[in-house]
Amino acid sequence: MTPLPAVLGFAVSVGADDHRLSAEPARRLAVRGGSATVDHAGHGLSWTGTAVTGTPRDPALSGQDGRRLLLAGELYNREELALALGDPALVTVPDSHLLLRLWERYGGAALRLLNGRYALLLTDGDRLVAATDHAASLPLHLAVVRHPGGRPFVRAATEAKALAGTDTPARRVPAGSALIVDLADPDPRPVPLATWTPPVSRRILPPHAAVAAVREQLDRAVRARLGDGTPPTVVLSGGIDSSAVTALAVAHCGTARTITLGTDLRDEFEAARLVVDHLGTEHEEITVDSASLLRDLAWTVWAAEITDPDVLEYLLPLVSLYRRLPGAPRRILTGYGADIPLGGMHRDTAALETLDQVLAADMATFDGLNELAPALSGVAGHWTTHPYWDREVLDLLVSLEPGVKRRDGTDKWVLRRAMAGTLPERTLGRRKLGIHEGSGTTSAWSRALRDAGVPEDRIHQAKAAEAAALYRRLVVEGAHPDDTDQDTGTGEHR
Ligand code: AMP
Ligand code: MG
Repeated sequence: MTPLPAVLGFAVSVGADDHRLSAEPARRLAVRGGSATVDHAGHGLSWTGTAVTGTPRDPALSGQDGRRLLLAGELYNREELALALGDPALVTVPDSHLLLRLWERYGGAALRLLNGRYALLLTDGDRLVAATDHAASLPLHLAVVRHPGGRPFVRAATEAKALAGTDTPARRVPAGSALIVDLADPDPRPVPLATWTPPVSRRILPPHAAVAAVREQLDRAVRARLGDGTPPTVVLSGGIDSSAVTALAVAHCGTARTITLGTDLRDEFEAARLVVDHLGTEHEEITVDSASLLRDLAWTVWAAEITDPDVLEYLLPLVSLYRRLPGAPRRILTGYGADIPLGGMHRDTAALETLDQVLAADMATFDGLNELAPALSGVAGHWTTHPYWDREVLDLLVSLEPGVKRRDGTDKWVLRRAMAGTLPERTLGRRKLGIHEGSGTTSAWSRALRDAGVPEDRIHQAKAAEAAALYRRLVVEGAHPDDTDQDTGTGEHR
């Protein structure tokens, strides 16, 4: 595995050989990297477009004969996949080759075997398959363009902006699924294939066994994400989630680089420092002025392609942080997303029934929030990966009965216990603080709106309006964040 995946994103069109005439050029993707042209014709189908690459040595498109595969992202269960193919040596081949071998053996069922962070397009004869991982952590958008009297073609991209501004509306491939399009059919209906669904039943394990299982799975997930073994970067808040990831990365690599962001309003530097001193990481603190933090809102909307102001408040400080990491592209691990399967956001919820219910509701509604999208760091050329949303970790955490998630008055009990002996006691017991709180993002945005004269009871609404205006400019109309005429934080966007 190389520091970055071979392909980070793409915008392509695929169809019968004559479709090129009508394939308009894709809009620029937010994800930054190398650039590779996708241009292939054979067996009656042609591919055209561009891929953003993380590792220049690999061609973007792989395959032979009537099969072609474009895979953005990476796989985390390569050993098991090689085992399923009966050839442990396959663990060393590129992910795309492994996937083509799986396709040969399993067809569409191969997609149910993958634990990864990916979006892929595959053609097998006239059949086109567009698939994303269990969490749609690498978003994939698809538009089927029909030609009266002619053959249809498909436009697909890892960012919605690349498909905006054309007549044919695009749809997102839902999390844990693939859409299959028959390109020989003049009027094809994409047929869904379900590859994953969040568990709704709960498992009872003795508490010590639950703790051991969490430790083992999280450890495996971190290890699978370490790339070529170069010490990774961890975005560290000093909370239990990112501290656990840091500790496990250090255990495997000997060390890690950690970064913590703070603003003039608030920071978590002390909590992070406690972990840094305990683990001996190479640490950096970045302080951002809250006014310049707010200016990164445009970059956040551009990268995340969402309008929900609450989610934007979680993502904005991270985008701000990634944009302030100069130098070579980095592989970054986060502690993002642990709170969803563990009910961490509901830190004061005592009733287990309520805890389990909100957790089930959150798992049923995460898709489309784009909280895990690689473009968030990709706008700065970095690659992120999120161990808590590893397919196996997530399956385990979601399915554990709520009595080990909240126990003895402690939230996220099972995770805290899983890290006992590895992190300082104060870190293990630290109360959850959301990134939007710990960085002062929520209050900075509210204050800017208040200063601009927005009444108190309209602040949330003003945030939503500002996000929607930015979305229109940046995603629908295709503007660049540097070109938005804006005074972010005051609701003024034209
Ligand atoms: P939280 O809302 O605290 O769960 O944040 C989600 C993830 O974002 C954490 O697990 C960290 O990986 C990262 N993060 C949160 N706050 C910071 C911060 N101040 N500096 C760097 N990374 C952070
Ligand atoms: Mg936190």
